[in-house]
Formats: sequence, structure tokens, C-alpha cells
Amino acid sequence: MDRESEKSLTPLRERIDGINREILDRLQERARLVLEIAEVKRVKGLEGHDPGREDQMLEDLVSRASGPFGPTELRGIFRTIFRASLEIQERERWEGLRVKRKDLLPPGGVKVGNVAVGGGETVLFAGPCSAESAEQMERVTAYLSRYRGAMVLRAGAYKPRTNPYSFQGLREEGLVLLRDAAQRHALPSVTEVLDAASLDLVAAHADMLQVGARNMYNTELLKALGRIGKPVLLKRGFMATIEELLLAAEYIVTAGNSQVVLCERGIRTFERATRNTLDISAVALLKRETALPVIVDLSHALGRRDIILPCGRAAIAAGADGLMVEVHPDPDKALSDGFQQLDLDAFGTLMEGLGLAPAPADDRVVEGAIDTVLKSPRPPRITPTSGR
Ligand code: PEP
Ligand code: MN
Repeated sequence: MDRESEKSLTPLRERIDGINREILDRLQERARLVLEIAEVKRVKGLEGHDPGREDQMLEDLVSRASGPFGPTELRGIFRTIFRASLEIQERERWEGLRVKRKDLLPPGGVKVGNVAVGGGETVLFAGPCSAESAEQMERVTAYLSRYRGAMVLRAGAYKPRTNPYSFQGLREEGLVLLRDAAQRHALPSVTEVLDAASLDLVAAHADMLQVGARNMYNTELLKALGRIGKPVLLKRGFMATIEELLLAAEYIVTAGNSQVVLCERGIRTFERATRNTLDISAVALLKRETALPVIVDLSHALGRRDIILPCGRAAIAAGADGLMVEVHPDPDKALSDGFQQLDLDAFGTLMEGLGLAPAPADDRVVEGAIDTVLKSPRPPRITPTSGR
């Protein structure tokens, strides 16, 4: 370009630069107003996005068009601005979730009885799929309680079975079996609660309440769990995204209960080699996105026993705060999920393989307790030999 043209273009370009900066300042001012309006709407519980209002603004602007930009260009420009405004609102809403706050929980994480989940130690959630009998609960709990590591005893009493003809759980009787076994061996307990109506009953028997995969979207149950003072184990639905799991946790937290542990238990994919597909990346992502502890349910994710050790290692490597494993004294006779439950020896081998608190050779074994349990209508409390 010759010097003459350069001279005439430079001031025009400088004006364009100036206008660009003015537009930028005005756009940022507009964005701040958008967020202010979004906050007012949030507080009042109003829907954030208002397409009707956008149409009105667009028609008003187009009707004022008198320059080189015609209606088509103006619609394109302003629609882009509206879309970008929606994106910043969504980003703010996501970043503003209570479950994403780093200070949501105390440093020790979620306390289940005297066990801290998310406090640094890998916590085992172990026990049978379902509580079936006093003998079954005693045999499995006696074995599990040999382990020195942090442990929460699990057993289902209310079972959300896919097939209505399958064993549905012993209900209240199952709750009592779990509670008594947990008390005898001084272990905290977790069991599933199916609906808000049975919440108080289940909460009276267990230290932690589990929301099963089939119930993750049950918002009335989630809200009810927000109102009780017990920790919640929230399982990911098998068709749920990570975002949906976090939003389900947000329901519990905003209703007043921050004591939530998230559980990755496999999602449904086209793969048939495992019962579900264990989503290890979800564990790493959840650990990044939220301060809530995350555990991995190996049994329901895999539905098989032979690859439980490498998958358990992978879960821990990805940052899991704990593992759930179904253990049954006689899996072949189990009333539910027999094919995936570990027998006692296999559980011991898994613990050794994971390098988790191996069984001491001497104490904790409560031989004789089975007989005592079976003879007495209400089992005696057995004091453990070490302090948990
Ligand atoms: C369970 O843990 O007993 C259970 C039914 O698991 P999920 O809800 O993950 O299927
Ligand atoms: Mn099960």
C-alpha cells in the first residue's frame, strides 16, 4: 500500500479499533447485567432462560434498523450475543453448585459412625447383597471385622429388584439383622432406602442411607434425605451422566445435608462382558469437580468376580475414597446377586491383593458367635478386641 492510502486509512482504522473496544465494554456490561438478572431469578425460583423476552428484544432492535445492517444480519449478531449470554449463565450455575464448594465438608470428609469416608484412608463397604438370616449375617460380619482397615457393613433389606418375581428383601426384619450384626462387631452400617415413606424406619436402624441406582432421580426421596441427620451414599443411575449425579447430590445438599458420598457403580453400555461398564474416568472427574467423597461399587459394576482385583486397583489409582464389594458366606446359595458376590476367602484374597489392612492372625475372630446368635432371640453385643 502506498503512503497516501496508508495515511487516509489509519485514522479510519483507529476509529474502528475504538468502536470495537466500546462494543467490548458494553458487551461486558450487558453480561454483568445478565448475571444479575439470573441471580434475582434464581433467588425467586424462576426459570432462567426466557425465549419470549429474547424475541421481543430482537423484534425491537430489527424495527430500529436504519443503517447498512439489515434485519438478517442484526438477527444473526444479536442471536449470537443471546446464546453467549445463556452460556455464561449456565457456566455460573454449574460453578455455583454447592456440591462443588471445596469447603462443603470438614477435612475428615463424611463420618459414618466412627469411620471417615474421604479422610485419606480407603474405606471398604462390604457385606452381602441382601440380609438373609442371622447366621448369614453373623458369619460374614465376623469374617469382615477381622480386618483392621476402615469398614462399613452393607446389606440390603429393601431390594429394588428389576424382576418382580425376584427376592425383594426381608424389609424390617432385614434392617434388624443388619443393625444387630453391625452392633455386635462395632461396625457402622449402610442399607438402601427405597422411598420417603420408609425413611424414618430405615434411618432408625442404619448409620448411612443408600440411594440405589434405580432411585437416583427420585427427587422427593433426595429432598427427604436432605432433612435427616445421617450420611447418604448416592449411587449413580445406570443411565445417568456425571452432571446428573452431581445435580442429584445437589438436591440432598441444598435440602440441608452435606454428608453425601457418591458411588460409581457402572453404567449401561453395549458391552455385555461385564454387568455394567465401570466408568473409571467418572471417578477422576468427580474427584476434580466436587469435594464429596467418591467410592466405586466393584460388584454391581462388574457383575463378576475374576477381574475385581485389577478394577479395584484402577479405582483406587483414579482417586476413589472407598470400594464397595458384596461378600456372602455361601454365594451359591445367596437369594440375590449370587453370581457376583465374593466368598469369604475371595474377599480375603482381594484385600491382600489391594494391600488393604490384611487380617491379623490372632484377634477379632468371634468363633462361637454364630451358635450364640442362633440360640438367643436377641444376639448379645460382642466387644471387639481392637478399637473401632
Ligand atoms: C445394592 O447396592 O444393593 C444395589 C441394588 O445396587 P445398585 O443400586 O447400584 O444396583
Ligand atoms: Mn446386589
